[in-house]
Parts: sequence; structure tokens; C-alpha cells
Amino acid sequence: MSSVNRFSFLRTLSFRLTLWYGVIFSLLFCLAFFFFYVFITNNLMQRLDNSLAEKISEFEAIYNLQGIEDVKAAALAESQAAGEKKIFLRLLYASGVAFSSSNMSYWHQIGINRDAVGRLVEGGSNVYETLTLPGRADRVRIVYGIIGRGVVVQLGYTMENDTAFIGIFKKIFLLTMFVFFLTAVLVGWFMARRALSGVEAVTRTARQISETDLSRRVPVPARHEEVDRLAVTFNQMLDRIEKLVTGIREMSDNIAHDLKSPVARIRGLAELSLSGTTGATDEQLAANSIEECDRLLDMINTMLMISKTDAGAGDLKIIKVNISEEIRRAVALFSPLAEDKGLLMICEVPDRLILEGDLKLLQRAIANLIDNAIKYTSAPGKIDIRVFHDKENTEKIHVIVKDNGVGISDQDLPKVFNRFFRCDQSRATGGSGLGLSLARAIARGHGGDVDVESTIGKGSIFTLSLPIFPPLQS
Ligand code: ADP
Repeated sequence: MSSVNRFSFLRTLSFRLTLWYGVIFSLLFCLAFFFFYVFITNNLMQRLDNSLAEKISEFEAIYNLQGIEDVKAAALAESQAAGEKKIFLRLLYASGVAFSSSNMSYWHQIGINRDAVGRLVEGGSNVYETLTLPGRADRVRIVYGIIGRGVVVQLGYTMENDTAFIGIFKKIFLLTMFVFFLTAVLVGWFMARRALSGVEAVTRTARQISETDLSRRVPVPARHEEVDRLAVTFNQMLDRIEKLVTGIREMSDNIAHDLKSPVARIRGLAELSLSGTTGATDEQLAANSIEECDRLLDMINTMLMISKTDAGAGDLKIIKVNISEEIRRAVALFSPLAEDKGLLMICEVPDRLILEGDLKLLQRAIANLIDNAIKYTSAPGKIDIRVFHDKENTEKIHVIVKDNGVGISDQDLPKVFNRFFRCDQSRATGGSGLGLSLARAIARGHGGDVDVESTIGKGSIFTLSLPIFPPLQS
């Protein structure tokens, strides 16, 4: 395993979440312990100060009642009773000079804080200080207090209880800190894995899709809102991609199929011309070739026009168009064809309906719809063409082309606007499968659309909807 792979987990979201969780948890834990520590040590110090102040009061009482000699005796007795390594006493003049003390051999490092004595003599209350002696673990708490006129007591007490407490506290802190950190990391890891399991499922499916097929979907069990939404969005995206890929596949099949026939026919004509076995003249063969080439060119031009209109690249030449007039013209143009087929064509349009649009493109869209209606209806059929304002939105005009021809199956209906799509039953009829996609591209280019309703065997209704004013082109 390369070092990049070995350490790649360090970059994973699970690891980083776990680390954050562990660090934040530990910091909070340290903070809580710190406050607890400060609270406890302050409390201990307060208690020690209170007992030192009590001792000063006791000496003051002895001094007032019995005099300085009794104070000296009491101080000696006090230090011997508590232990000479625990407590010491000095009796000082107001000048800070000692005139009596307990056994100070253990406390020889401790001097007299004249500043504290000065403050005391000036009328302050007891003065406290804490000293750390070199080479000793335990600190010393010292109080200076006045017990009579010009007599000061310096009383010191070892803080060994505090040192013991802090030692135990440190051990407990480190142990619990370790246990808590471990728990935090495990819980954090578990939670991060759980939270990200949905994301993993999406990743797994994405990998399988790239390796196998597009029909797989991410399971969406109700887990966490966000992950569910990700899975649903991912699945919707897959639906769209699958549809697109299927569409492209179908389109390329259709292109191959539809371009193959004219090319094969042109080749056949060229072969015939070369072999000279046909009865047709060279002129006839050339004319046939030109006709096939024109058909091919027409298909290619239509494809280009659809692409340009779809992409909004084909600049529309917007002018005012009397759509009623255009429909009447188209009906007049197609009537002979319809009559030849034995079809009845009915046209119901108001005198004048003006909209803004590209005249040539609109003519082409309308012609495609009427041409289809004639092509896919057999005698004695009826084709009904109407134009009117939308009842709810008068800014819109609808052109309806209705026939009672072969109709379109439910399965084919969503595909009829795809490029090169032709329903199976229409393959025998001439056509390229581009007419409806061009009509829709033109309608959409004008800010409108073409829709279809159809029942197989009964007929179809195509609705071309156009706004009176097309949206401004970018
Ligand atoms: P085509 O050149 O084949 O007519 P279109 O894009 O115009 O191509 O139409 C696509 C397919 O939709 C047609 O091949 C046909 O099967 C179906 N279709 C279009 N119009 C009608 C209609 N009026 N009635 C039945 N089927 C239709």
C-alpha cells in the first residue's frame, strides 16, 4: 500500500469529524475541570485563612488577659502540639524585629516581610501571603496579625494538604481525561460513520453505475433528512441522465437508419449508371441522384435549424404576423393534397389575429403539423384547424390541428418530439422524423410550445401555443 493510500483516511470526513468531536469534547472537559480546580483550591485556601485568623484572635485574647509571656508560652505549645514542621510562630515588634519564636530550624529560609508588617501597623487587617520554598514540594501560607499595641504575630502553616489534594486531583484528571477522550473518539467515530453511511451508499451506487448500468438507484430509507434529500436528488439526476442517454441512443439509431436509406439509394443509382444495364437514361439517373441528395440535404439542414433554434442561436426575424392569414394560406396550399387523399379539411379562424414572430419559421411549424395530419389520416378522414386566443391568458394564441387518423400509442406519445423518432406504423410513410422536433424548437424559440393528445386508432390533436409578444432575445 502506498503511503498516499495508507494515510488517505486522515483526509476522510469521518476522521476529521471524529477529531473535531474529540478535541472539542476534551477542551470542554479541561475547562470544566479547571473551574472545579479553581473552586476547590480557593475553598481550601479560605478555610486555612479562617483557621489562621482564629489563631491570631486567640493570641490576641491571651495577650490582653495574661500578657506577652503567656503568649510566648502558648505559641510554643501550639507549635509543639501541631508539629514543628507544620507550623511556626514569630512575635515581632512593630518595627518588624523578632523578639520571640517557635523552633525555626526547619523554617530558617523564611524571613520577615517588613512591607506586610508596615501595612499592618498602619491600621490594616491581617495580611496573608503564600511562599514557595526552594527544594520543598509544599508551599507555606503565612499570616501577619496585630495582637496588642506594638506586638505582631507572624504565623506560618504548611499547605501539605493542598499539595496532597492537587496530586490526587491530577491523577483523577488524567485518568478520567483519558477515559473520556477515548469514549469521545469512539462515540464521535460511530456518529460520523452513521451520519455518513447515506453518503457512502450514494458513492457506492455512483461507482456501480459507472462500472455497470444506469438503471441502479440509491436506496432511500428514512434516515437523516439531509442524506435522504441527497439520495433523492441523486436519483432524480440519474433519471434525467438515463433518459438523456436513452434518448441519444435512440436518436443515433434513428439517424443511422434514416440516413442509411438515401445514401444506399444514391449508391444504387450510381452503380446502375456504371453498369449501364438499366433502361433509364443518364439524365434520369442523375435527376434521381439529385433528388435523393436534396432529400439528404434537406434532412441535414432541418437538423441544423433545430439545433440552432434549440440553442437560441438562430436569430428570429421578428415581424408582425397575421396568424389567421397564414393558416388560411397553408390550408389553401395543402387542400389539393387532402382532397386527393379523400380528406375533408375544415378551417375555423378569425379574420385577423396578430402576433409577433418569425414568419418563415412559423409557416414551417404550421406546415409540418398540417402535413402530418394529412399524412397520418386515411380517407374518409377529417382535419380540423382552428386558431383562437387563450381564454385565461389573452396574451397567448393557440393553433389546433386535429385529425381522426391513425393516432399515436401512449408508449410513443412522449417520444414524438424527439429528433428522428418515427412511430413504427409510420415507417412506411415518407418522412424524416424531424418535423415535430422542428415545430417544437420553433415554438419554444418564440416562448411557446407544441403539445399533443392522441388516442391510437382515433386521431390526434396538436396544439401550437404562441405568445403574442415573444420574449426578448439575448
Ligand atoms: P415525420 O417526418 O415522420 O412525419 P415528425 O417529426 O413530423 O416526422 O413526426 C414524428 C412521428 O410522429 C411520425 O413519424 C408519426 O409516427 C408521428 N405523428 C406525427 N404527427 C402525427 C399525426 N398527426 N397522427 C399520427 N401520428 C403522427
